[in-house]
Amino acid sequence: MIRSALLLAGGLALSGCVVDASVTQAPPAPAAAPAAGGVPAGMQYLYGSGEAAALSAQAYNALVDQVRARMAKDDPKGPHPRNSVVLAPDATLATPRFQSCGDKPAAAVFDVDETLLLNLGYEGDDARRSGGWDSARWDRWEKTGAMKVAAVPGALDAVRALRAMGVTVIFNTNRAAANAEQTEAALNFAGLGPAKHGETLFLKGDVDGKSGKDGRRNAIAQRFCVVAMGGDQLGDFTDLFAGLTPPERRAAAASPVIGSMWARGWFVLPNPVYGTGLGSTYDQTFPPATRWTDPQEKQ
Ligand SMILES: [Mg+2]
Repeated sequence: MIRSALLLAGGLALSGCVVDASVTQAPPAPAAAPAAGGVPAGMQYLYGSGEAAALSAQAYNALVDQVRARMAKDDPKGPHPRNSVVLAPDATLATPRFQSCGDKPAAAVFDVDETLLLNLGYEGDDARRSGGWDSARWDRWEKTGAMKVAAVPGALDAVRALRAMGVTVIFNTNRAAANAEQTEAALNFAGLGPAKHGETLFLKGDVDGKSGKDGRRNAIAQRFCVVAMGGDQLGDFTDLFAGLTPPERRAAAASPVIGSMWARGWFVLPNPVYGTGLGSTYDQTFPPATRWTDPQEKQ
């Protein structure tokens, strides 16, 4: 149905949000069964369920608690070097190294779509359609949908708490630079602002012209000590996942070194609706060694 068609759009972030460099290898996904009421299951979960609200609030609570603990002991003039949670340019997933902070002021860096903002207007329209990803329709959404969004559960309290601690909130999104004003308006409407393009808002095309976010992350890390990052796609944390197969991404995300980052500087939000989390094949999803068939159905 709709989602599988979107996944076939190869190379694009599926359903609209965000052309992410790490999306480029996403293979087609099997068709999902239609859900009750005509709403795809992933949308029911993300936009309609208490469970997803709880997951999001859980991520934001953990983020605020972790930053608060860090800020209490983080002394730019202290004896211990402060490290950013942004990887250094020569880092790899096997040997991550982090940028140094020096005495830079603290910031937290967030993706926007399905991290801080729920694109309810766009997805509600999309749920009633069939067919593939339409970048022009998404562009029209960026231009006109500012008042049809909602903050992700937990996000408002988190950005307020961060700012109260003196942590600058920075948005790093693959929305178009040409729509900067409207994206500022959407963030402000949801109560997440202020967002100012070039200062606290970084958009696709900014800094290095790429959809991968490392260039913008590096530029932010030149000015700030990044104490936390939040996102719903692995590309919101590093571009190093780009080009990996789904099993490789899964293994890397849970590896001892990268796995130790979750809720310790890197905070991930749920998104079963679109993006790089979707697209594994049957064999990639269910390892052959785990195959089971109902004995009652055997000949
Ligand atoms: Mg996102």
